[in-house]
Amino acid sequence: MSQPTKSEETTAPIETASRGLAPQTRATSAGIGADRAHRAVIPPLYLSANYVYDDPGVKPAYDYSRTKNPTRAILADAIADLEGGAGAVVVSSGMAAVDLVLQLLKADDLIVAPHDCYGGTRRLLNARAARGDIYAAFIDFTDAEALDTALARGPKLVLIETPSNPLLRITDLVAVSRKAKAAGALVAVDNTFLSPVLQRPIEYGADLVIHSTTKYLNGHSDVVGGAVVANDAALVERLAWWANCTGVTGAPFDAWLSLRGLRTLHLRVREQEQNARLAADLLEKHPAVARVHYPGLASHPGHALAARQQDGFGAILSFELAGGHAAAQTTLTRLKLFSAAASVGGVESLACLPWAMTHAGIPEKERLEAGIAPGLIRLSFGIEDAGDLLADLAGALDAAVISKAA
Ligand SMILES: *Cc1c(COP(=O)(O)O)cnc(C)c1O
Repeated sequence: MSQPTKSEETTAPIETASRGLAPQTRATSAGIGADRAHRAVIPPLYLSANYVYDDPGVKPAYDYSRTKNPTRAILADAIADLEGGAGAVVVSSGMAAVDLVLQLLKADDLIVAPHDCYGGTRRLLNARAARGDIYAAFIDFTDAEALDTALARGPKLVLIETPSNPLLRITDLVAVSRKAKAAGALVAVDNTFLSPVLQRPIEYGADLVIHSTTKYLNGHSDVVGGAVVANDAALVERLAWWANCTGVTGAPFDAWLSLRGLRTLHLRVREQEQNARLAADLLEKHPAVARVHYPGLASHPGHALAARQQDGFGAILSFELAGGHAAAQTTLTRLKLFSAAASVGGVESLACLPWAMTHAGIPEKERLEAGIAPGLIRLSFGIEDAGDLLADLAGALDAAVISKAA
């Protein structure tokens, strides 16, 4: 290696001294005090598109921000560290993260993905398949026979999403990863719904972890971003090469905001989860509610599995109203603390009607087959006071009982 250049000196590499510290400490202290130029406590935001070559023959550590940027590098290292990966590539959105993983494939390679994966992911895989780039098979991962049949076709990538959206179905990470690897596939897990605080797929056999950092990692609903973590340095290098080649790397300011969000990830997620647990109990007992989908409930089919592979049950749940679509719509309009909006994972609580909002693009028959009923409501819990949220929810639901009786 050549002598360290000036740009290498301005931000120290992520301190290996952080090893042995708790994840919460590592998330909070990522890049703190690492600025060598002015000894800034918080890592500076490097907006510069380009960097000076001290010696035209020697490429500096940072030369052009599409390729590498000091602010983005700190965020990438912090996410990789929390997921237990060898490194990460930070990109411009969760969809860019999924597409970046697809760059690891060759023409005609087969991808196996869950039938109820994130809608944008399904659209992307279908569009790439329709153009002849790849083959995509959508299956129910809880159906062992369907999985074996798909794996017998020799996929190169198995994409897992657990818990699923919006029914919070749980996929067995160890079992599916082991089978997929035996079939010669790379295993990628979209870990957006839980964050590394509650689930670390690499520990269970995944090669790649995908994040929409738009959700929990940034956590303040003011950045759209994504990241891919890999368990192996060679994979990280291939992903970084493609991200630079196709130009999908994230903007420095987005990385700076996301790094700020990441510092409170553990506090937020624990608080959000507590709110979701209390609400799940309330909903399960409420007469207006026909069914609650939350892995933390003993009644959830994935409860035991979630308890095994997750460090918590998460802060997203869905429930079906006995009064159907009309009751769900009434409830949504009566909620005051839950804004009716798509997305999840922010500090603010959100309510969504998958039938009419996030999943409206899926043909009606497929929606019903997937268990997305017209009266289904998905809630993403924020960090507001639990008492306030529960009172808001109970108030809106009591009206649903009355409107049903009327
Ligand atoms: C939101 C989301 C995505 C897409 O992320 P964007 O940042 O919106 O592009 C992918 N997967 C899951 C599970 C998501 O929730």
